[in-house]
Parts: sequence; C-alpha cells; structure tokens
Amino acid sequence: MAIATVNPATGERIREFDALGEKELEQKVALAAEAFAGQRRTSFAERAELLRRTAGILEEEAEALGRIATLEMGKTRPAAVAEVRKSAAGCRWYADHGEEMLADQPWPVERARVFTRYEPLGPVLAVMPWNFPYWQVFRFAAPALIAGNVGLLKHASNVPQVALAIEDVFRRAGWPDGVFQSLLVPSSAVEGLLGDDRIRAATLTGSEPAGREVGAAAGRNIKPSVLELGGSDAFVVLPSADLAKAVESAVQSRILNNGQSCINAKRFIVHREIAGEFTRQVTERMAALTVGDPAKDDTDLGPLSSADAVETLHRQVTDTVRAGARLHTGGETVAGPGFYYPPTVLTDIPDGSPGQHEEFFGPVALIWQAEDLDDAIRIANDSPFGLGGSAWTTDPAEQERLITEIETGMVYFNEFTQSTPEVPFGGVKNSGYGRELASFGPRTFVNAKTVWLA
Ligand code: NDP
Repeated sequence: MAIATVNPATGERIREFDALGEKELEQKVALAAEAFAGQRRTSFAERAELLRRTAGILEEEAEALGRIATLEMGKTRPAAVAEVRKSAAGCRWYADHGEEMLADQPWPVERARVFTRYEPLGPVLAVMPWNFPYWQVFRFAAPALIAGNVGLLKHASNVPQVALAIEDVFRRAGWPDGVFQSLLVPSSAVEGLLGDDRIRAATLTGSEPAGREVGAAAGRNIKPSVLELGGSDAFVVLPSADLAKAVESAVQSRILNNGQSCINAKRFIVHREIAGEFTRQVTERMAALTVGDPAKDDTDLGPLSSADAVETLHRQVTDTVRAGARLHTGGETVAGPGFYYPPTVLTDIPDGSPGQHEEFFGPVALIWQAEDLDDAIRIANDSPFGLGGSAWTTDPAEQERLITEIETGMVYFNEFTQSTPEVPFGGVKNSGYGRELASFGPRTFVNAKTVWLA
C-alpha cells in the first residue's frame, strides 16, 4: 500500500510520500538507540515536564491537528479535535501519575531490603492504525516515554501527515532528538525492525492478521509485545434497562468514529420482551443520521477510511442478508465520490454468516433477540473476539453474572465501552493480549528488576 494522503470524503489523492530508504532507516534506529542511552538517565520530573509541554502544544493546536486527521481518514471535525484534546489529557495524566505508578515496589523479606525497580527497556516499535491516529499513538507513547523508553512509530500508510505532525509536536515540546520518531515505511519493514537488537519491544493496534504477524515476529526475536486487535463488542440489553438511554447509546456507540472503532458496540443482544421496540427505535435513529462531509459541522457520519473498507463492509452485509438476515435500513452502496456507507441495521443474523463471527468496521448494527440472560451470555460469548462490551441492566444479580461470565477484557454497565487514561484497556481471545493505560501502560515496557540489598 502506497504511503499517501487520500481524502476519503472525495477519493482525491492529495499527496504521496517516499518510504524511507535502508540508510535513512538505519540512521533513525541508531538515533533512537543513542537517544535511549541519554533518556534512561533522566528523572521522572524532567520527563513529566516534557509531557506537559507536549500536552500544551496538542491543546493549543487541536483544531489544526484535527483537520489533518479529518483529511486523511475522514472522522468528523469535532471528533478529530476531541481526539487531539484527549491525547493531551493522556500526556498530562502520565505527567502527574507516572512516577507513583513506577515507584520502587518493596517485598517483605526480613534479612534484606528487597524491591522491584521498573527500568525502561529501550526503543519500542509502535505499529499503529489510522482509526484514532492521534489517540492510539499517545496512548502508547505517554506511558512508554514517562517510563524512560523511546518511541519509533510505524503509522498506517494512509495517515502519513498525522505521523509527521506527531513527531513534530514531540520535537517542539523539547524532547531530545530521537526520543520519538515516525518511520515512513511499509508494513513489510516491520519484520526486519523487530529483528534489530536495538529495538526492544513492540506494540500493535490493528487487525487480527497484522497482530498475528507482529506478535509472531516479536516472539521469534524474544521481545515483549502488546496486541490490541479488533473487537465485535456485544451490547446486551435486558428488561430492567432504561430503554431510551440504551437506544441513544447504542446508536452513538455504533457510529462513533464513523463506525470504525475496535470498541464500537457491534452486536446488539436484546431480551425478547424489548427486542422489537429496541430494533424499531434504533432503526429510526440510524436512518435519520446525516451522512456527509466530515468537515461540516452538521455531519453525524462521515466516510469510511478507504474504498477497500467500503467494499469489505458491503460484502459482509450482502453475504449476511443473502444467508437470511433481515435488512431494516441501509445496505446499499452510495453513488458518487468518497467512501461512504449508509447506516445499516440487520436482524435475524444466521449462524455461519459473516454477521455471526466477523468484525463489521463501519456503521452496521447487527441485532440478536435473546430468550433470557443465559441466552444473551451465550450469544455474547459466541465470538472469536473478546475486547469490550456493555450490558444494560440495573439488576445486581444479573450484573454479577455478566461480570463473571462475559469473556472480554472489559465490561461496562449502563454506559458504552470507552478508552480513557485512568482505566486499563485491552482484550482477550483474538482481540489480543496485554493491557494499555492506567498503571498497566507504564509497566508494560519495563524491566521489572529485582534488587536484593543484604
Ligand atoms: P491493519 O491491521 O492492516 O493496519 C494497522 C497497522 O498495522 C498499520 O500500521 C499497518 O501498516 C500495519 N500492518 C498491517 N499488516 C502488517 C503486517 N503484516 N506486519 C506489520 N504491520 C502490519 O488494519 P487496516 O487498516 O487494514 O484495517 C483492516 C481491519 O483491521 C479493519 O477493518 C478492522 O477490522 C481492523 N482494525 C482494527 C483496529 C482497532 O482499533 N483494533 C484499527 C484498524 C483496523 P500499513 O497501513 O502500512 O499496511
């Protein structure tokens, strides 16, 4: 895939970028290693101050930075600006709390002073996706850098200008040369980078196939990795729920980021007593959304990221309908330029159809009717993914069963799943492994060194 900016709202190819040559790549990796040698000796206070300055730039320039994301991957203007601000908040969170999260941890040994010291590992390679092109990067970078690591970013090929803008923000914030660099390289370069001894760890957010490749390459080279992959999150609605709020949140969560978030609610599993009414209300709201130019303020739903994304989603919808699902709204491709897909609602999802087990990365709501709580849990767990999910019930006994029995890394009640710096984030099953954010983020790329002082 070419490294290029293509505006998904129009299909226009705006700019192409040359991939780094072998020599340039070598220089950047060498610079990262050199930067780490200095960075590991800096104090938490110094690194926190640089993170605060990084946050300051992100806050001041949120509008301009947000415009680049809208141009390259099509998220709406308010969503793009909010994402840059959230990235700033992430930097501030780790500036304020990183040191306490990584403080020496004592162990109860009588004859010696024993503790764990969390030392940085070195240059960490981050392979990142286009869907939250700022937040995904800062979600990795703020905790990694506060711990004293340095970052090498291989961003998705369709967001090169965001990649360069992020590198520039770090530079202007005053981080030493080489502490954070963007590598404009194709995904085929990742294997070689992971074989380089100077790179000590990897993190990837993206699709399951990419996760398998990067996880395997990290394993072959005995390097720790974090994989944050796709999801097909369940949104379980039971009779005690506030139906109006559940409907509102269902639509919001399904269309967030034009339907292209790993934690969008994707599979709606509704108790039979309320399934008909829920489907009617969700369909009505989905059909009423304004689809259009993401740069305009009244747009609810912008385009998908690429022509390929539209093709994949449409194939999934048509195959699911062909297998017997019922289409309530949408389901037709949109004529004209740009990579748009209409809000779509499907029910009666047949076993074996793409709707049952595939991730639908776009504004398509898949609705199941559940007989009872047991049936709802069974359907929710009938997925190769296990990222997040939410359940709508005010009954404590039902909540307790769902907490225990839902096979995911996160479960939210009466709110949809979110990603926020103070709360751990990550999945199980084919959604990946490892946790980001909270105190897990800074403790991921560290050597937990045991120290025994007799
Ligand atoms: P990818 O997983 O292909 O891309 C994510 C990142 O991984 C990009 O930087 C990409 O680089 C890189 N990459 C891809 N393949 C490899 C590989 N074999 N080795 C090393 N790096 C690799 O996602 P897509 O953009 O193609 O989206 C496809 C699907 O992935 C979506 O429909 C969705 O299901 C899922 N996805 C999930 C995301 C999430 O948040 N969990 C985010 C994005 C996608 P390059 O761009 O150069 O190919």
